[in-house]
Amino acid sequence: MLWKGRRQSDNIEDDRSDSGGGGIGGGSPGQFRIPIGGRAGGGGSIFLVILVVLAGWYFGFDPSTILGGGDGGLLPGGGGQITDNSGGGQDSGAGTPANDEMKQFVATVLAETEDTWTGIFKSQGLTYEDPKLVLFSGQVRSACGFASAAAGPFYCPGDHKVYLDMTFFQQLDQQFGASGEFARAYVIAHEVGHHVQNLTGIMSKFNQMRQGMSEADANQMSVRIELQADCFAGVWAHYTAQKGILEQGDIESALNAAKQIGDDTLQKKTQGYVVPESFNHGTSQQRQTWLARGYKSGKLSDCNTLSGPI
Ligand SMILES: [Zn+2]
Repeated sequence: MLWKGRRQSDNIEDDRSDSGGGGIGGGSPGQFRIPIGGRAGGGGSIFLVILVVLAGWYFGFDPSTILGGGDGGLLPGGGGQITDNSGGGQDSGAGTPANDEMKQFVATVLAETEDTWTGIFKSQGLTYEDPKLVLFSGQVRSACGFASAAAGPFYCPGDHKVYLDMTFFQQLDQQFGASGEFARAYVIAHEVGHHVQNLTGIMSKFNQMRQGMSEADANQMSVRIELQADCFAGVWAHYTAQKGILEQGDIESALNAAKQIGDDTLQKKTQGYVVPESFNHGTSQQRQTWLARGYKSGKLSDCNTLSGPI
């Protein structure tokens, strides 16, 4: 990705020297209230369609047990917004020059997502509100609770922030076999995709809905939400490609990342077998398919993962 020299976002909060601090506020996962995006709830026809579909889909479910809420992280794991992937996540080299270049990269990708989503929202008569991206080292406290870097990057709907320990990128490369800058960009774009879901009210509906569901049903719904975030990442990549800043192999490296962090691939790798009922992010095939779909058309209407086959 030809990112150097491009605009860097001001919405980075660097908490790397502040392990586990922040004082943003406590609260356990699932207990936080999600502000419904009033300003984003109005005119957008595509968003409206998605919401209507989502509502229809909702009523098909039979609530039975109470589950925690919260947004999924990037990786499979628990049902909350913070997922446990039993990975590394050690604090290594925070603040080093190499990391500073990585920080610049993250700030540039974030800026690209801001520009793209601002444009898309505007075309729907809506206003995009930039998310913050918090760089942390080892552990962090968000409005969604306390998280360790081992859980992977995540988005907290309660404070509209993406949380990222950049050592995850090394893990992505070395442990998951997903190398390349654009694999990293995809990770960021996926989390920003959750922010878009938050602004458009999709996420709050999702959290309401899964309150009364069985774990299996909630997992299925989580997969749909995650695949939509992948598709939104693809939509972002579509517009980024139009700017002429993608290089050969970029899309392939994002697609490979989507493959490597698919539920089935990860479960095979970590436990040697798969448990489909526990999938909550989607299979490798599904993640690649939805990322590619968003990338191909750049249309949100092609990201309706909320009904029909996925
Ligand atoms: Zn996610």
